[in-house]
Amino acid sequence: MTKLSSDPSARFVRYRAAHREERAARTREAYRRLTEEQKKALVESRREYQKQYREKHKVRLSEYYRARYDPQDNHARYRKRYEQKRHEYIACAEDRQRNLRERGSHTQEDIDRLYASQCGVCTGCGLQLENSRDRRVKNHYEVDHVMPVALGGSNTADNLQLLCCPCNRRKHAMHPDEWAARIQKLSA
Ligand SMILES: [Zn+2]
Repeated sequence: MTKLSSDPSARFVRYRAAHREERAARTREAYRRLTEEQKKALVESRREYQKQYREKHKVRLSEYYRARYDPQDNHARYRKRYEQKRHEYIACAEDRQRNLRERGSHTQEDIDRLYASQCGVCTGCGLQLENSRDRRVKNHYEVDHVMPVALGGSNTADNLQLLCCPCNRRKHAMHPDEWAARIQKLSA
Protein backbone atom coordinates (compact mmCIF):
# COMPACT_ATOMS: atom_id res chain seq x y z
CA MET A 1 0.00 0.00 0.00
CA THR A 2 1.26 3.45 -0.87
CA LYS A 3 1.73 5.88 1.94
CA LEU A 4 -1.43 7.59 3.10
CA SER A 5 -0.09 10.06 5.58
CA SER A 6 0.63 13.55 4.41
CA ASP A 7 3.79 13.50 6.51
CA PRO A 8 5.29 10.01 6.31
CA SER A 9 8.72 9.24 7.57
CA ALA A 10 10.40 8.62 4.23
CA ARG A 11 13.36 6.98 5.89
CA PHE A 12 11.20 4.49 7.69
CA VAL A 13 9.32 3.75 4.48
CA ARG A 14 12.63 3.05 2.72
CA TYR A 15 13.91 0.97 5.62
CA ARG A 16 10.73 -1.03 5.69
CA ALA A 17 10.93 -1.74 1.96
CA ALA A 18 14.59 -2.79 2.18
CA HIS A 19 14.05 -5.10 5.17
CA ARG A 20 10.67 -6.49 4.29
CA GLU A 21 11.59 -10.20 4.56
CA GLU A 22 13.63 -9.82 7.72
CA ARG A 23 10.88 -7.84 9.42
CA ALA A 24 8.24 -10.34 8.37
CA ALA A 25 10.35 -13.22 9.72
CA ARG A 26 10.74 -11.44 13.07
CA THR A 27 7.03 -10.78 13.26
CA ARG A 28 6.21 -14.40 12.44
CA GLU A 29 8.66 -15.62 15.08
CA ALA A 30 7.25 -13.31 17.74
CA TYR A 31 3.73 -14.37 16.83
CA ARG A 32 4.68 -18.04 17.05
CA ARG A 33 5.82 -17.56 20.66
CA LEU A 34 2.48 -16.13 21.81
CA THR A 35 -0.04 -18.26 23.66
CA GLU A 36 -3.36 -19.00 21.93
CA GLU A 37 -5.07 -16.43 24.14
CA GLN A 38 -2.51 -13.78 23.30
CA LYS A 39 -2.93 -14.55 19.60
CA LYS A 40 -6.66 -14.14 19.86
CA ALA A 41 -6.31 -10.89 21.80
CA LEU A 42 -3.85 -9.60 19.23
CA VAL A 43 -6.12 -10.37 16.29
CA GLU A 44 -8.99 -8.74 18.16
CA SER A 45 -7.05 -5.59 18.95
CA ARG A 46 -5.80 -5.29 15.35
CA ARG A 47 -9.34 -5.62 14.10
CA GLU A 48 -10.53 -2.97 16.53
CA TYR A 49 -7.68 -0.64 15.56
CA GLN A 50 -8.40 -1.06 11.86
CA LYS A 51 -12.06 -0.43 12.43
CA GLN A 52 -11.33 2.78 14.30
CA TYR A 53 -8.79 3.84 11.71
CA ARG A 54 -11.27 3.36 8.86
CA GLU A 55 -13.90 5.24 10.81
CA LYS A 56 -11.59 8.12 11.68
CA HIS A 57 -10.23 8.53 8.14
CA LYS A 58 -13.41 7.63 6.30
CA VAL A 59 -13.56 10.72 4.10
CA ARG A 60 -9.86 10.82 3.36
CA LEU A 61 -9.77 7.12 2.55
CA SER A 62 -12.67 7.28 0.17
CA GLU A 63 -11.12 10.28 -1.62
CA TYR A 64 -7.82 8.48 -1.74
CA TYR A 65 -9.27 5.33 -3.27
CA ARG A 66 -11.42 7.26 -5.71
CA ALA A 67 -8.44 9.29 -6.90
CA ARG A 68 -6.36 6.18 -7.35
CA TYR A 69 -8.97 4.16 -9.14
CA ASP A 70 -8.48 3.78 -12.87
CA PRO A 71 -10.66 1.07 -14.40
CA GLN A 72 -8.37 0.57 -17.38
CA ASP A 73 -5.32 0.30 -15.23
CA ASN A 74 -7.03 -1.79 -12.62
CA HIS A 75 -7.24 -5.03 -14.54
CA ALA A 76 -3.60 -4.82 -15.64
CA ARG A 77 -2.53 -4.13 -12.09
CA TYR A 78 -4.31 -7.17 -10.67
CA ARG A 79 -3.05 -9.27 -13.53
CA LYS A 80 0.52 -8.23 -12.81
CA ARG A 81 0.21 -8.81 -9.11
CA TYR A 82 -1.28 -12.22 -9.74
CA GLU A 83 1.62 -13.15 -12.03
CA GLN A 84 4.12 -12.01 -9.41
CA LYS A 85 2.42 -13.85 -6.60
CA ARG A 86 1.16 -16.88 -8.49
CA HIS A 87 3.63 -19.27 -6.87
CA GLU A 88 2.82 -17.95 -3.43
CA TYR A 89 -0.90 -18.38 -4.06
CA ILE A 90 -0.41 -21.93 -5.30
CA ALA A 91 1.89 -22.83 -2.40
CA CYS A 92 -0.65 -21.37 -0.01
CA ALA A 93 -3.49 -23.40 -1.54
CA GLU A 94 -1.39 -26.56 -1.43
CA ASP A 95 -0.54 -25.90 2.21
CA ARG A 96 -4.20 -25.51 2.95
CA GLN A 97 -5.07 -28.74 1.14
CA ARG A 98 -2.35 -30.65 3.00
CA ASN A 99 -3.42 -29.10 6.28
CA LEU A 100 -7.01 -30.15 5.60
CA ARG A 101 -6.02 -33.73 4.75
CA GLU A 102 -4.12 -33.98 8.02
CA ARG A 103 -7.21 -32.88 9.89
CA GLY A 104 -9.48 -35.66 8.74
CA SER A 105 -11.85 -36.00 5.87
CA HIS A 106 -15.50 -36.08 4.91
CA THR A 107 -17.45 -37.44 1.97
CA GLN A 108 -20.10 -36.05 -0.33
CA GLU A 109 -22.58 -38.26 1.58
CA ASP A 110 -21.66 -36.36 4.77
CA ILE A 111 -22.38 -33.11 2.96
CA ASP A 112 -25.71 -34.45 1.65
CA ARG A 113 -26.69 -35.47 5.19
CA LEU A 114 -25.70 -32.01 6.39
CA TYR A 115 -27.85 -30.39 3.71
CA ALA A 116 -30.80 -32.50 4.82
CA SER A 117 -30.26 -31.83 8.53
CA GLN A 118 -30.08 -28.07 7.87
CA CYS A 119 -33.20 -28.35 5.67
CA GLY A 120 -31.07 -26.75 2.98
CA VAL A 121 -30.99 -23.46 4.88
CA CYS A 122 -27.92 -21.30 5.47
CA THR A 123 -27.18 -21.43 9.21
CA GLY A 124 -25.97 -17.83 9.08
CA CYS A 125 -28.86 -15.96 7.47
CA GLY A 126 -31.58 -18.50 6.78
CA LEU A 127 -31.34 -18.28 2.99
CA GLN A 128 -32.73 -21.32 1.17
CA LEU A 129 -29.74 -22.89 -0.54
CA GLU A 130 -29.66 -24.91 -3.73
CA ASN A 131 -28.35 -28.42 -3.20
CA SER A 132 -25.18 -27.74 -5.17
CA ARG A 133 -21.66 -26.62 -4.49
CA ASP A 134 -21.26 -25.46 -8.09
CA ARG A 135 -20.30 -21.79 -8.03
CA ARG A 136 -22.31 -21.13 -11.17
CA VAL A 137 -25.54 -22.15 -9.46
CA LYS A 138 -27.32 -19.25 -7.80
CA ASN A 139 -27.59 -19.70 -4.01
CA HIS A 140 -25.26 -22.70 -4.03
CA TYR A 141 -23.86 -23.72 -0.66
CA GLU A 142 -20.30 -23.49 0.60
CA VAL A 143 -18.85 -25.92 3.11
CA ASP A 144 -17.63 -24.08 6.18
CA HIS A 145 -15.58 -25.30 9.14
CA VAL A 146 -17.49 -24.34 12.28
CA MET A 147 -14.19 -24.11 14.15
CA PRO A 148 -11.90 -22.71 11.46
CA VAL A 149 -9.03 -24.91 10.37
CA ALA A 150 -6.79 -21.90 11.01
CA LEU A 151 -7.85 -22.07 14.67
CA GLY A 152 -7.29 -25.80 14.94
CA GLY A 153 -10.70 -27.06 13.79
CA SER A 154 -10.97 -30.48 12.19
CA ASN A 155 -12.01 -31.35 8.65
CA THR A 156 -14.46 -34.06 9.73
CA ALA A 157 -18.21 -33.94 9.19
CA ASP A 158 -18.99 -32.94 12.80
CA ASN A 159 -17.13 -29.65 12.30
CA LEU A 160 -18.90 -28.67 9.10
CA GLN A 161 -21.88 -26.53 8.21
CA LEU A 162 -23.29 -25.20 4.97
CA LEU A 163 -23.36 -21.48 4.46
CA CYS A 164 -24.36 -19.19 1.62
CA CYS A 165 -21.43 -17.39 -0.04
CA PRO A 166 -21.93 -13.98 1.60
CA CYS A 167 -22.12 -15.59 5.06
CA ASN A 168 -19.02 -17.64 4.34
CA ARG A 169 -17.18 -14.49 3.23
CA ARG A 170 -18.28 -12.69 6.40
CA LYS A 171 -17.37 -15.58 8.67
CA HIS A 172 -14.03 -16.41 7.06
CA ALA A 173 -11.73 -17.63 9.88
CA MET A 174 -13.88 -16.25 12.67
CA HIS A 175 -14.12 -18.10 15.96
CA PRO A 176 -17.59 -19.72 16.27
CA ASP A 177 -18.40 -17.64 19.37
CA GLU A 178 -17.67 -14.43 17.54
CA TRP A 179 -19.67 -15.64 14.56
CA ALA A 180 -22.62 -16.51 16.81
CA ALA A 181 -22.51 -13.00 18.26
CA ARG A 182 -22.36 -11.55 14.75
CA ILE A 183 -25.39 -13.53 13.59
CA GLN A 184 -27.33 -12.39 16.63
CA LYS A 185 -26.49 -8.80 15.88
CA LEU A 186 -27.55 -9.21 12.25
CA SER A 187 -30.89 -10.78 13.10
CA ALA A 188 -31.64 -8.44 16.03
ZN1 LIG B 1 -26.14 -16.93 4.69
